[in-house]
Amino acid sequence: MKTPEEYRAALSKMKPNIVKDKVVRDPCKDKELDKGINVVAVSYEYAHDQKMKEFMTAKSPLTGKTIHRYNHIPRSKEDLEKRYEMINTLAQETFCAQRCVGSDALYALFMGTYLVDQDKVLNTNYHRHFLEYLKYVQENDIAPAGAITDAKGDRSVSPAEQPERDSYVHVVRKTDKGVYVSGVKSPITTGAYAEEICVLPGRQFAAHEKDFAIAFAIPADAEGITRFVLSPEIKALEGEFSACHGKKYLNKEAMIVFEDVFVPWGRVFLCGEYQYAGRYADFFATVHRFSYCACKPAVFNLLSGAAALISEYNGTEGKYLFSDSKGKLFDIMKNADMIQGMGQAAIKFAKETESGAVLPDPKYANLGKFISGEQFPKAISILQDMAGNLPVSLPHENLLKDKEYGPKVKKVFARKEGIPPEDHYRLNELIRTIAASDEGGLLQFGTRHGGGTIEVEKATIYTQNLKKLQECKKMAKRQAGIE
Ligand SMILES: Cc1cc2nc3c(=O)[nH]c(=O)nc-3n(C[C@H](O)[C@H](O)[C@H](O)COP(=O)(O)OP(=O)(O)OC[C@H]3O[C@@H](n4cnc5c(N)ncnc54)[C@H](O)[C@@H]3O)c2cc1C
Repeated sequence: MKTPEEYRAALSKMKPNIVKDKVVRDPCKDKELDKGINVVAVSYEYAHDQKMKEFMTAKSPLTGKTIHRYNHIPRSKEDLEKRYEMINTLAQETFCAQRCVGSDALYALFMGTYLVDQDKVLNTNYHRHFLEYLKYVQENDIAPAGAITDAKGDRSVSPAEQPERDSYVHVVRKTDKGVYVSGVKSPITTGAYAEEICVLPGRQFAAHEKDFAIAFAIPADAEGITRFVLSPEIKALEGEFSACHGKKYLNKEAMIVFEDVFVPWGRVFLCGEYQYAGRYADFFATVHRFSYCACKPAVFNLLSGAAALISEYNGTEGKYLFSDSKGKLFDIMKNADMIQGMGQAAIKFAKETESGAVLPDPKYANLGKFISGEQFPKAISILQDMAGNLPVSLPHENLLKDKEYGPKVKKVFARKEGIPPEDHYRLNELIRTIAASDEGGLLQFGTRHGGGTIEVEKATIYTQNLKKLQECKKMAKRQAGIE
């Protein structure tokens, strides 16, 4: 398995196709990308930690070797438990573990390629190719990016009718050696610091749209790919009192533009079998929303901790007018437990697929993601309420040490006795980062949209409940005495 240093060295060696305002020669030397790289590096680091080996690594059924759990396809409920623990542990450190998207893409491709190959009419051989690729990923401990979301263009217009054909990644032409693809996938987490990109369709397509039904894996620096670093407003924080998310870690997404990119047949995992594109997207959505069930409890716990501390530091614990800090705290805390409960239910009701992979229960995985997307803005709002103005009214941190100005600015921190001004500063700076910074805003968007919109989650949950609804109606009729 790779060490964090080996991961960095591999990135530094890649051909420069990353563009910020100009070309980035080495992402490890870019201040902001380096913070994103730090996040993925933690996943490499933890896999070498003896205390975490049990859930950070797995034995590959393909090679018999010990591999990173992110590159292991779950085959049992026990595997799902360990995957859950890995993601949750990483999120406790990095907020968003980032490596899940690519790992979930591998997981979905494993099930998708197996499924399409069972179709005797189509006579495809994608699963064998995919297993070869998976072996390569495992042996080289690669953390691929997962590129599912197309640019999509005008949402009211179907893919084939888009004025810009590149709104969806599609096949341009085929040769006996492979396919050429063009199009845009964006925004892609780790896109600027991944060695490989796994591309999957993000939706179902009709027969006349079969050129959009394409899945493949490609080195991220392949000819014809440009990776644009997004959210330039998000800068690395450098203050002594800056929160670890911002100072050490950042979320960085990339827009990936494919222009006539050659993909050899061995790395093509769907090409024109439009009937199965939706299944690939569904597999990804389910496993990725399960990942949310694992990371988001850590995020809500962080919010709860910050909320509890700020009440302590400001002397706002207990009852006040119509409210009680306990009630506010409860409204944040409950979410971690509810989402964790959904994750556990998704494991309990997980089903083995014919491919040998186990699929978390879609309804509970979607419910966990749905709760996190719906509740995160509310939890942020409660935290803002509990914190008062200080997170957005901090004086410059250098002044705290200044002989002349230090005593003056420290007056604003003279709150609960015994709490040093520096600790007040740090806690309020953490809350500012989460609730009032550019990076915090991105994380809020990520919690809402990452892995799909709330509407598609609702639709999935509703569809999963349709059978039960008939039983519900029968029960209501019985109780009402309707024949
Ligand atoms: C921080 C972050 C990280 C991400 N990382 C990744 C990644 O690594 N890989 C990846 O593939 N994707 C990634 N995504 C993309 C994410 O999956 C998408 O944002 C999500 O699927 C929603 O798609 P969209 O943003 O295009 O929103 P849209 O689909 O445009 O939805 C926006 C709104 O419009 C509504 N809407 C959609 N279509 C219609 C319609 N036809 N008519 C009326 N209303 C409509 C929706 O209900 C929603 O309210 C990331 C997103 C974020 C924010």
